[in-house]
Amino acid sequence: MFKVDPLSYSYDALEPYIDSETMRIHHDGHYAAYVNSLNEALSQYPELMEKSLEEMLGNTQQVPEDIRQKIINFGGGAYNHSLFWRMMTPGGGGEPENPLLLEMEKSFGSFQTFQEEFNEKAAKLFGSGWIWLIKEDNILKTTPTQNQDTPLTKGQTPLLGLDVWEHAYYLKYRNKRKDYIENWWNIVNWGEVLRLFNLR
Ligand code: MN
Repeated sequence: MFKVDPLSYSYDALEPYIDSETMRIHHDGHYAAYVNSLNEALSQYPELMEKSLEEMLGNTQQVPEDIRQKIINFGGGAYNHSLFWRMMTPGGGGEPENPLLLEMEKSFGSFQTFQEEFNEKAAKLFGSGWIWLIKEDNILKTTPTQNQDTPLTKGQTPLLGLDVWEHAYYLKYRNKRKDYIENWWNIVNWGEVLRLFNLR
């Protein structure tokens, strides 16, 4: 059984950038539903319960075809959100420390260029999806994914992700997705991003 990861901060800890009601519905409603639906889909295949989400999502051709799309949707939703909660923290923001900052300067030219590129892709993404900072072939890149698709499926390592589904911001920001994106930088947990960067 996959479990719902608890938040390591309170629902209102990311105020005023993300409001408490959005966090509660997003975590207890949307995210928990992905985890529950994943468990339901896997109930026919108990051997898959032993695998990690990384293993399944990184090798979707290996999972049974009749539940493959469910693993991509619900497993992706479970994985993406579990990362997302950890990538935010009260009192976050600013810039990452080295060696991540240096690597960003190498890959994008500057931290600001990285942010502009990320923001632009986040604003332009049509429909529902995510924007990611990823590592691929030892280079940092930004890339969108649709729905709950995860960079793992393309062999990429996600380091930072922003949920741009309307459920992530609509209660507070309504149609102003750009304001949500800009405000979100104030709560980015660069310590966690750096930790993931150093792991891979
Ligand atoms: Mn979401």
